[in-house]
Amino acid sequence: MISEAVLPKGLDHASFTRAVAEYRAIVGEEHVIVDLERLVPYTKIMIPEDEGLHQASGAIAPDGVEQIRQILAVSTKYKIPLWTVSTGRNFGYGSAGPATPGQMILDLRRMNRIISVDPELCTILVEPGVTYRQLQDHLDANNYDMWLNFPSPGPIVGPVGNTLDRGVGYNRYGENMSHFCGMEVMLADGSLIQTGMGGVPGSKAWQCYRWGFGPWIDGLFTQSNLGIVTKMGFWLMPKPPAFRPIGIGLPTPQAAGKALDIMRRLRMNMVIENMVLGETTYPIAMKVKRSDIYQGEGAIPLHVLEEVRKKLGVPRFSAALTLYGTSEQLDVNEKIIRDAFAGLGEVNVFDPKGALEHVFRNQIGLPNLDEFGVYNFRGGGGSAWFALVLPLSGAEFVKSMDICRPIFEEFGFDYMGGLMVGPLARHAEHVMDLLFDRSDPEEMKRAYACFDKLLSVNVAAGYAPYRVNTAFMNKTAEAYGPAQRDLNRRLKNALDPHGILAPGKSGIFN
Ligand SMILES: Cc1cc2nc3c(=O)[nH]c(=O)nc-3n(C[C@H](O)[C@H](O)[C@H](O)COP(=O)(O)OP(=O)(O)OC[C@H]3O[C@@H](n4cnc5c(N)ncnc54)[C@H](O)[C@@H]3O)c2cc1C
Repeated sequence: MISEAVLPKGLDHASFTRAVAEYRAIVGEEHVIVDLERLVPYTKIMIPEDEGLHQASGAIAPDGVEQIRQILAVSTKYKIPLWTVSTGRNFGYGSAGPATPGQMILDLRRMNRIISVDPELCTILVEPGVTYRQLQDHLDANNYDMWLNFPSPGPIVGPVGNTLDRGVGYNRYGENMSHFCGMEVMLADGSLIQTGMGGVPGSKAWQCYRWGFGPWIDGLFTQSNLGIVTKMGFWLMPKPPAFRPIGIGLPTPQAAGKALDIMRRLRMNMVIENMVLGETTYPIAMKVKRSDIYQGEGAIPLHVLEEVRKKLGVPRFSAALTLYGTSEQLDVNEKIIRDAFAGLGEVNVFDPKGALEHVFRNQIGLPNLDEFGVYNFRGGGGSAWFALVLPLSGAEFVKSMDICRPIFEEFGFDYMGGLMVGPLARHAEHVMDLLFDRSDPEEMKRAYACFDKLLSVNVAAGYAPYRVNTAFMNKTAEAYGPAQRDLNRRLKNALDPHGILAPGKSGIFN
């Protein structure tokens, strides 16, 4: 069945049916889905907007670059846009759904070959459909001593999609953009390029040196709609001889701010290599139901949360970091950390369990789905990440909480935020999960308005998200100013004049 409501813009039913037949001739009948029921995995979203606004016309799953080239030719002929996903689990940012309705999902899950692994240089080259679970199994089967840097939904998502949306992991490599190396990209006209050293015939250093020669173009293919990435290289972390998780409990926002300033200095000097710090409401929400701790109106009051924390024995804020190295190195670095925190009376250092146990598992290379527990807290399947970039300072973090928390409360939602510290500690991402009930239309509206206000108030104060869900891509692109938007449009017109690739991604249109 093909629903009229989801036909690509400007295409009649008969033309779409012909296009579908041509797609099927390329990839096989079963790999083109237009039946609304079978499309559900591609249309189920968590963000606060109606599914109809992100309804795909269908999904098509190629098995290689030659098939993609032929799909592009059909799409160009019929002017059918393609929304590319790798493993398609961009939960809280729009899942697999397109930014605008009427696009075909180009699902690269079948392209899931691990092309090469170099256990000496700790590099890999993979196709987009490869998941972290698959990679972990491959490392285990071959006794490779390397760790993966996965995001919280680790087992079921993959490095290509996560990195192309500039996602973050938790071991010493953190931000995935900072350790990928080399891409293969197909442009809208079917030409195929290898970035970095990859253009050199028989290149021996494609996965070793990221910058190649001349302008560095890889960034153009992240959070964008200028190409389809078909291969990507990554550096993996060598398994350390020893590691030591360290948790730090902090009683107040001010103590958390002071701790952050100490951590920045330690991170800049490479005593510590990773850190997550956040209010413990989020980890508590992974374990309890909201209705069990609060039945009143509006956001959960702070005193109620305080009682819950006391009962569970967790501090108001918690930081999690893991030291890596030899045991001698760990001893030295642990002492430096202890000394650095010695003057802070209210700081309770070293609670390796604490509230952030799930973060420790991520920091030591054990893919898990623990964090999904958070969706039982409020129920209703709604989630939108508000991922704000801050300069890394304690005062900025405290100020950011003072800006954002009242906005959550104004709309009756609970503030659940934490900081991910960026490479070499110049910035942090203040990531907040807006949880709401998607089955309640009034709550959906409120969640949309809450997100909208978080965005506009922060932009007015000089802050912006680094990544955003498909409902807010236009508004976020506006926040970055007309000059960037204009340049993006000019690039789009030059590389994809017919607007075939993911119109609306990051607010970019022809
Ligand atoms: C409980 C929970 C915790 C989370 N924690 C984290 C976290 O710690 N860190 C984090 O980063 N995220 C986190 N997320 C968000 C998200 O689920 C992950 O980022 C996930 O890795 C993204 O989905 P994916 O890997 O399947 O990417 P995809 O959905 O495949 O891709 C993401 C986007 O990248 C683009 N893209 C993908 N493939 C291509 C391609 N081949 N060519 C061109 N463009 C492409 C598309 O725009 C696509 O929409 C979390 C989500 C949940 C629900």
